[in-house]
Amino acid sequence: MSNSVGTVDQSEIFEIFKKAGALLKGHFLLSSGLHSDIYFEKFQVLQHPEYVEILCRKLASLFRDDNVEIVVGPTTGGIIIAYEVAKNLKVRSIFAEPGDEGRIFKRGFDIKKGERTLIVDDILTTGGSIKEVIQLVKKHEGKIGGIGLLLDRSGGKVKFDYPLKALATTEVTNYRPEECPMCKRGEPLIKPGSRKIG
Ligand SMILES: [Zn+2]
Repeated sequence: MSNSVGTVDQSEIFEIFKKAGALLKGHFLLSSGLHSDIYFEKFQVLQHPEYVEILCRKLASLFRDDNVEIVVGPTTGGIIIAYEVAKNLKVRSIFAEPGDEGRIFKRGFDIKKGERTLIVDDILTTGGSIKEVIQLVKKHEGKIGGIGLLLDRSGGKVKFDYPLKALATTEVTNYRPEECPMCKRGEPLIKPGSRKIG
């Protein structure tokens, strides 16, 4: 584990995830179809306002000098992160919801042309929802200043065309089902956030 952000001690971040019970060990089916022995149940952290406050204050501090005018996050966790980061930066926050193709703004949300936009989310795994938010902000001609994350679970492997800052970075090994050691040991497969499926 390497620390990509000088001003944040990432062991503190993992400590919060552990304390909140968000760092789960077992045999998990990820939404990508791959298996993993570690799963971050982010809502175990996000249910605690005091943890969200600490994490988002740190995240906001990394973008304090970027003249951010609006913070945007993808549903669901990104709503909470965007709100709390925006509160720290004293700007407004909106969220992007799934549409028929990619993400859309509903509820009268808008980004003005040239508005300096910070995109935030909780945990980066494959980067799919962040990519969709990028497309959406570009469609509105917002100016993307950066991407802020609580945790980059890709170990820095997922890249974007904008500066990415994560409070903590770790690489979790994903296994294809046919080469998964937990499958070989016959351990039951868990689909996080849902019933057990195997
Ligand atoms: Zn498996």
